[in-house]
Formats: sequence, C-alpha cells, structure tokens
Amino acid sequence: MDAMMAKAGARERLNGSQQTLIDLSHHIHAHPELGYQEELASRWLAEALADAGFAVELGVHDLPTAFVARAGSGPLHVAICAEYDCLPAIGHACGHNIIAAMAVGAGLAAAQVADEVGLTVTVLGTPAEEVGNASGKVLLLERGAFDGMHAAMMVHPGPLDIALPNLIAAALFNVRYTGKEAHAAAFPELGINAADALTVAQVAIGLLRQHIRITDRIHGITTKGGDAPNVIPAHTAATYIVRAETLGQLEELTPRLFHCFEAGALATGARLEFDGGDKPYAHVVHHTALSLLYQRNAETLGRQFVEMAQVAGTTDMGNVSLGLPAIHPLIGINSLPAVNHQPEFAAACTTPAADQALMDGALAMAWTAVDAAADDTLRASLLGQA
Ligand SMILES: [Zn+2]
Ligand SMILES: [Zn+2]
Repeated sequence: MDAMMAKAGARERLNGSQQTLIDLSHHIHAHPELGYQEELASRWLAEALADAGFAVELGVHDLPTAFVARAGSGPLHVAICAEYDCLPAIGHACGHNIIAAMAVGAGLAAAQVADEVGLTVTVLGTPAEEVGNASGKVLLLERGAFDGMHAAMMVHPGPLDIALPNLIAAALFNVRYTGKEAHAAAFPELGINAADALTVAQVAIGLLRQHIRITDRIHGITTKGGDAPNVIPAHTAATYIVRAETLGQLEELTPRLFHCFEAGALATGARLEFDGGDKPYAHVVHHTALSLLYQRNAETLGRQFVEMAQVAGTTDMGNVSLGLPAIHPLIGINSLPAVNHQPEFAAACTTPAADQALMDGALAMAWTAVDAAADDTLRASLLGQA
C-alpha cells in the first residue's frame, strides 16, 4: 500500500470515530483527576482502545493509571503518548483531555493501516504529567515502558500551533522549616520563627534573580505559613520549581536555590528539610525530521504555524526525548488571550476549536507515523536507533 492510500485509510478510520473521540475528551474534561488518581480517564481510554481492537493492559509498571495499548506488528514501532491528569483547583486548564482523546484517535487511525505500511502502534497511557517530580513518563521510562520503541509522539494543546516549542528542564521540590511556638507578644524571645525563615529565603531568591541566566525560572508557593498571628509559626512549608534550558544548567542552578533556603534556616535557627527534586524533567530535544513531517501534515489539514521563542514550558516528554526520537508540537485551540494554566483556558478545552484540534492533531500524528514508515531513509534511521 502506498503512503497516499494509507493516509486516506487512516483519515477514514479517524472520521468514523469523531463523535466517540470528542465525547471522550469532554467526559475527561468534566471529571478532572489529579496525577496518579486518573482512574476514570485511564479506564475510559483503555476501554476505547480495547473496543477498537487494541491489546490493552491497564495498570502497568506498578502505576495503576498507566496503560499500554498495542496494535499492528510492523517493524517500525511508534508510541503515541496520552496524558490525562488535571491541575489542582483549575481542572483541565492544560488541555490534557484533548491530548488523551487525540492519542486514542491517532492510535485508531494509524492502527487501521499499521500492517500495510509496516508499523506497530502503541498508545501509552502516561499519568501524572503535572506533578513536577517522579512523573508518569519519568517512571515509565525508568521501568522500560519505552524499550524497543523507535519513536514517540504527542501533541499538546496551546494557544497557537508551534512545531518546535521551547521546552526546558525543571525540578520541583518541597521545603519545610521547623521552629518553635511561643506567645507572639508575651514571650517572642522564646520562639523560633519558621515563617521568618521562609521570608529570608524568599528575599534571597529575589536577589538571586539578578545573577541567573535570563532563561532560568524560579517560582513557588507557600503551602503553609502559620496557624495564628499570636503564635510564633513553628511550621512552614513551600513548594518551588526551578527551571533552566537544559538539565545541565538545571544542575548548576538548583544548589544556588537550596543555599537561599539554607540562609533562612541559618538566620532564624529553624530546621530545614527538603524533599523532591530527585527525578527532574529534562528539556525536550525535538526530532527534526519527524517534527517537520508533523508540521507538513498539519498544514495539509489547514493549520498555520507560528514561531514563539520566548515561551518556555516543561514536560516529562523531555525525558522521553533524550531516550528516543520524539516530537512534542503544540496545537492551537484558538484560546487567546487565554493561555495554559488559566481557568479560561480550561473553558476553551471543549470548544469546537478544541475538538477540531483533537481531530487534526490525531490525524497529523497518524500521517506522520505513516510517512516515517514509508520513507526509506527516515525508517532506516529510526530503526537503527532502537
Ligand atoms: Zn500543564
Ligand atoms: Zn500539559
């Protein structure tokens, strides 16, 4: 079968499932679940893939909400990653409901022609992308879920279509200070102020910003600031994320941030504890040929791409991209001025434009898999990397 015929077959298969896929996206959106708690979403996705003839295993690699769904038996093995976790408090404000349904759609479409063009297609259910440390793809990669695969693809919703988004490395960690309670007015000299420790750290971080790369990011929240204004706070906590353009730069920057927290402990006498940060997200290395094929396929569907160098998000697809050829383009859902991680963006994730992005991204990914299998040079290069 030639690539043109295969693409037509893939398109026909996808179009036949349009309403099922849109319903799937909207159902997940209406039932937001946090990372590693995506019981409904993972089950719905696994069921949709099983109904379509995929061999499905839900709960893999000791992750109850991860799944593997496989179809076809061709030599070139392509993974399509589904994400389906939400954000605390603001639901599906990153559009992972669209990613999830899109991955199923791409899987169905590619599976339709997999054996004719020489593909094995795996839709990989990757939980907990938003957790910031020890996320789904990081653990799945460590535990061998990507072994034997030649390429991995996913498409992420955003305000606009961007083929090669700038996606940088990040580490998330928690900080706790322990001081000593005391009456804040009568016996303050007996207290050790854990809130002051956090304040000193935040001032130090503010000053540090003058002396870091313009591409670095440091941001966080106070998760516990004290219990009563007349009790010296003995327990405070914060969660911080530090980001840099590469894992190497991140490793340089992270200790400097830790020093700021140590300064808070030193200044106040509070005790400092850290956790997290041990399984950071890597920067994304886009596979150029596959990314360009995706862009060309999406343009064929009428999508228009922009370049936006200053946008710098993070994804655990970065870790995948250091292990095997990978793409992670953004697909526009016509949300501006709303952008990812805003409630307004969550509202934009079930609009007709979001549903169209679901279908376009699914087909462009399936077509990219077909192109990769049909292109002798690219196929040989991908097969050589496993
Ligand atoms: Zn996000
Ligand atoms: Zn996201």
